[in-house]
Amino acid sequence: MNNRYCENGVEIRKTICSICNPHSHCGIDAHVKDGVVVKVEGSLENPHNRGTLCSKGAASRQYIYHQDRLKTPLLRTGAKGAGEFRPISREEALDIAAERLKGIRAESGAESVAFFAGYPKWMRPFLKRLAHSFGSPNYCTESSTCSSAAVLAAKLNYGCFGPPDIANAKCLLVWSANPFYSNTSAVRRLLDAKERGLTIIEVGPLVTPLTRHADVHLRLRPGTSGALALGMANVIIEEGLYDRGFVEKWTVGFEEFKEYVKAFPLARTEAITGIPEHLIRQAARLYAKTKPAAIQVSASPTVHHTNGVQNHRALTALIGLTGNFDVPGGNHVRPPAYLYVPGPPVTRQHEYEQSRPWSEMAPRMAVDRFPVWSHVIAEAQAMHLPVQIQSGSPYPIRSVVGFGLNHRMWPGSDFMYESLKKLDFFLHVDLFMTDTGKVADLLLPACTSFERSELKFYPEKFVIWTTPVIDPVGESRPDAEIIFDLAKRIAPEDTLLQQGYEANVDWILAPTGLSVEKLKQHPGGLALEDIPPVPYRKYEKSGFPTPSGKMEFASNVLKRFAVDPLPTFKEPALSPIGTPDLAKNFPLILTTGARLPMFIHSRTFRLPWTSGLRPDPMLDINPEDAEDRDIAQGDSVLLSTPRNTITVGANITQIVPPGVINIYHGYRNPEINTLFEPDYLDPVSGFPGFKSLLCQVVKVPKEED
Ligand code: SF4
Repeated sequence: MNNRYCENGVEIRKTICSICNPHSHCGIDAHVKDGVVVKVEGSLENPHNRGTLCSKGAASRQYIYHQDRLKTPLLRTGAKGAGEFRPISREEALDIAAERLKGIRAESGAESVAFFAGYPKWMRPFLKRLAHSFGSPNYCTESSTCSSAAVLAAKLNYGCFGPPDIANAKCLLVWSANPFYSNTSAVRRLLDAKERGLTIIEVGPLVTPLTRHADVHLRLRPGTSGALALGMANVIIEEGLYDRGFVEKWTVGFEEFKEYVKAFPLARTEAITGIPEHLIRQAARLYAKTKPAAIQVSASPTVHHTNGVQNHRALTALIGLTGNFDVPGGNHVRPPAYLYVPGPPVTRQHEYEQSRPWSEMAPRMAVDRFPVWSHVIAEAQAMHLPVQIQSGSPYPIRSVVGFGLNHRMWPGSDFMYESLKKLDFFLHVDLFMTDTGKVADLLLPACTSFERSELKFYPEKFVIWTTPVIDPVGESRPDAEIIFDLAKRIAPEDTLLQQGYEANVDWILAPTGLSVEKLKQHPGGLALEDIPPVPYRKYEKSGFPTPSGKMEFASNVLKRFAVDPLPTFKEPALSPIGTPDLAKNFPLILTTGARLPMFIHSRTFRLPWTSGLRPDPMLDINPEDAEDRDIAQGDSVLLSTPRNTITVGANITQIVPPGVINIYHGYRNPEINTLFEPDYLDPVSGFPGFKSLLCQVVKVPKEED
């Protein structure tokens, strides 16, 4: 695979897109002329995207060369939030940062500096190591609202988890996932499997592009996944469709679980979820009888509820119940390679990150508020960050070192914004000048994947080490370079960090037999052909990595922390059934955070090609609800929750069922997450209940329109 050839002065150079999550990171052929990217195409050689790019990746040139790119370090000169800065040199900026961070550490302890990684995710291992080597336990990430709660829930059940083995599955239960919008490179494989005869059961309130390929679609009321899963489990157990051999030998807590699910007969499950009885029974039978069967979950929709972890535990319990855990065509556990990609090969990423044991650092933020999270997830829960900045208890958080931090990620985003203003020192690293960046004391410009070197593994046994295809724009630098420059100043005793980026990647890669030098010899990427297949049913040799060594229908970890050990269902904290009095004024259910294909969070909102497809954050409302409110397509409406009211346009569509309002997140104005209280969280994971809140929609009176 050749990195380049020349034609009319244009060189084709290999890189990757990292606009969205590390499960994608599509290979890109960058057409470069005179040091400028003039065109992008998907790399045909890359087995993950096989020449395709989504609308976001196709707009890469607008991303790289956007006028809002930060091009020089900036030091705040005006009031916080005013956006008044003066340019300074990189050396001066790094020295100021080091002086402030070390000063705060000396006065208040290293724990009073929090390190945060938002998007992109590629620098996370290096930032986490820096945080711990600096002495702070408070490394936290955007995964405090994305995916970690699902990981947590699955680990409580099994100690580990695995993706669906779609190539060998005969049935796929897709639970609140929309790969057409959020994981486009997976869609081809899914449709190929469908053509081979895969049965698809889709669960989710919204109609998605997957719906027309699904054999059954269960349109549940948002926030009731747990009840649906328990109702399905009841059918499976009652009809003797569960895997007795697996359950008897490899699980604990089954008898209590069996008793508990009897409280979810079909009639009650229909009353809670809104799904007709016959469809629940049909789905339960299809999933349990069609062997093998796998479950595809998404990162967040099932856990963005105030009972999210228990709901997710209930639905993933179906895998063990039916004997589909770690079997061909089921959910196949694979060891982690690097940055969320399942391996093999296995790297030393996690050993690398934890340069100092927890016992040698102060307690993490919110260890008392979210003890289960702190026990299972090796990060601080970032949802607590604004609370501790404001309260200073049990110790002050005086500084944040943020990479790609967006205050709009937090529920009650205005509260987070005001909290950032209270910091003594906020160092922010980003590609663009953002509203969050305007609150920073010091801004450092980062660069895109086109301007840096990056290690990327793919589940298709493929790895690439990219080299920059263009020079960094202005004074921007790769996030990793900024981290290693900071390490020289604030963590000099960490001798590995002092060796620089490539030496650190080599350390992580050591068990794989790969090295940066070797990978540089394969600029288009390297197929890892010698890797043996990952065996199935590994628990038969080593047991499950849970306290009991078995799958736990009743979690010993939850028991230890006085949380109900069974995957119990609770209504969302605000819901038509749970809080009927409140529902008189707020009769609709608000669900937010689903993605449109051209956006990922707020990352491509400023690009004309993508934002032009949906410039305004319209809410989706069912025709029945619109008619009840005399709302016509495009009307301005007031969307109210108990916390706030915003004005948006109405999009009348059957995509949402009656009684549900859907609105996409990430827009600057209006700010959707101001509709949520900052403490509207799952008490187990700390995840926000973004996908089930009560709301009301009324038409804006004409004179106010
Ligand atoms: S944004 Fe699109 S092109 Fe880029 S990595 Fe994600 S799916 Fe691939």
